[in-house]
Amino acid sequence: MEDARVVAWDELVLATGSTSFVPPIEGLDADHLLAGTVPGVVAFRTVDDCRRIVETATSAAHAVVLGGGLLGLEAARGLLARGVHVTVVHPQGHPMDRQLDADGGAVLTRVVRGLGARLVLGRFAVAHRPATPETSAEVVLDDGSTLAADLVVVAAGVRPRTDLAAHLGLEVNRAVVVDDQLRTSLPHIHAIGECAEHRGEVPGLVQPGWDQARVLADVLSGADPHATYAGTSVLTRLKAHDIDLASMGCVDIDVHDPDHEVLAFTDPSRGRYAKLVLRADRLVGAILLGVGDAAGALTQLYDTGAPAPRDRLVLMLGRAVTRAAAPESVSLAEMPGSAVICRCNTVTKSAIVAAHRDGADTVPDVAEATRATTGCGGCTSAVEGLCSWLRSTDPSPDPAQPSRRTTPETPAQTPVPALNAALNAALNEGAA
Ligand SMILES: Cc1cc2nc3c(=O)[nH]c(=O)nc-3n(C[C@H](O)[C@H](O)[C@H](O)COP(=O)(O)OP(=O)(O)OC[C@H]3O[C@@H](n4cnc5c(N)ncnc54)[C@H](O)[C@@H]3O)c2cc1C
Repeated sequence: MEDARVVAWDELVLATGSTSFVPPIEGLDADHLLAGTVPGVVAFRTVDDCRRIVETATSAAHAVVLGGGLLGLEAARGLLARGVHVTVVHPQGHPMDRQLDADGGAVLTRVVRGLGARLVLGRFAVAHRPATPETSAEVVLDDGSTLAADLVVVAAGVRPRTDLAAHLGLEVNRAVVVDDQLRTSLPHIHAIGECAEHRGEVPGLVQPGWDQARVLADVLSGADPHATYAGTSVLTRLKAHDIDLASMGCVDIDVHDPDHEVLAFTDPSRGRYAKLVLRADRLVGAILLGVGDAAGALTQLYDTGAPAPRDRLVLMLGRAVTRAAAPESVSLAEMPGSAVICRCNTVTKSAIVAAHRDGADTVPDVAEATRATTGCGGCTSAVEGLCSWLRSTDPSPDPAQPSRRTTPETPAQTPVPALNAALNAALNEGAA
C-alpha cells in the first residue's frame, strides 16, 4: 500500500502471484523492463504490456519473441496476424516443451512455421542492442547470430512473488510452501495461487488458484473447517488463432511403459497429432493437436474419469463420449451432466442446465449465475452453444423465477474477464 497504512488481521492470505522472469541479457535491465520503460522491449504479463506490444507492432517490421511456451506462441500468432515478421527463440528442442512430448512438439513446430513464424530452437538470447540513428535494434543469440528486433517480447516464464513471505520468515521453496489446508509454515498465514507451492506444484493457470481459494474460504469461514485441497488436474489450451491444441494430465510416458497404455496418431503434413495415455482403462493424459471434434469428447473422458471404450480406434477418433459426426445439438445432449464446461471455475453442464432452468438463458446470465466464462474466456462458445441448445430443447426457464435477462437499460454486470481474454482480444484483433 502506498500510504503505509497498518491493517490488523486475524488470518492473512498471501495471493501475490508472480512476475515475469527476465533472463540475463546484456543490455536489458530487468527492473526497467518490468517497469515498462525499455523502448521496443515488453515483458508479456499485464493488459498494459499487451497494449504496448500492439502499439509497438504498428511500426515494427521485425519482432523477436523470447520463449516458445504458451504465452510466447500466443503473442507470436497475434503479431503475425498484424503483418509483422516474427521470430520465436526457444532454448529447448521444441516449443511448449512443458506440455508436449518430442513428437507432438515436432508437429507443433511445423504448424507454427507453416503459419509464417520463424522458430529458432535450442538457442537463447544473450544481448539486446537498441536502435541507434544508424542501426536497427537487434537481439544477439548465444551462437553469435543476430536477429532484427524492432520489437522484443519477453515470454520466458514467471517467478512466484515471495519476497513478502520470505520477509515474514515463511518456508519458501520454489514458492511459499503450503499444506492441504493452504497453511504456510507459520500459524494463521495462508497462501494460494501462483505464489503457493502445494505438494511440489506451483500453478501457472487460474483453475488451481480458484480451487484453492474455494477450499480456503470454506476453512476460514467455518463453512467446512476440515476442507482440504488435493490438487487440480489442469488442462492447458493454446489460445492462438489457427492452432487447436490442448494438453492434459501426464503425457511424457513412453509408448512401452509397462504401467500405461499409450496410443499415438501422427499426421505432420496436416498438422495433426494425438497422444492418449491410459492407466487401468482410464484416460490419464492426452495431447490433442489439430484433431477438431475428437478433442472435446476426449477432454470429457479425461474430466469424468469414465472407462474408455474397449475399441481403441473408436477412442482415438473421439467417439468415446459423442458421435464425432453428430450435429452439435446431439453432442450437447449426449454430453454427461458431469462434463466440465468452464474449467477455470469448474462449472459443469448440469450447473449450466440448472442455471438455465432458473432463468439464465444468455451467456452473461449464465456467467452471473455460475461464473462460467469469467476466467480465461475459452469456454464462451461452448456456453453459447449450450444456451442455444437449451433454448431449443428446454425452452422455458422457470417462469416463477424472476428473469435474469437484462435489458439495454440495465446491462448485465460484466463478468470480470481474466487477463487472457483481454490480451487475446487485443492481440488477435485483425487475425484472419
Ligand atoms: C498473458 C497471460 C495469459 C494467461 N492466460 C491464461 C489462460 O488462458 N488460462 C489460465 O488459466 N491462466 C492464464 N494465465 C495465468 C493466470 O493469469 C495466472 O495463473 C493467475 O492470474 C494467477 O493468479 P494469482 O491470483 O495467483 O496471481 P495474479 O493474478 O498475478 O495476482 C496477484 C496480485 O497480487 C498483487 N500483489 C503482489 N504483491 C502484493 C503485495 N505485497 N500486497 C498486495 N498485493 C500484492 C499483484 O499486484 C497482483 O495484482 C495467463 C497469464 C498471462 C500473463
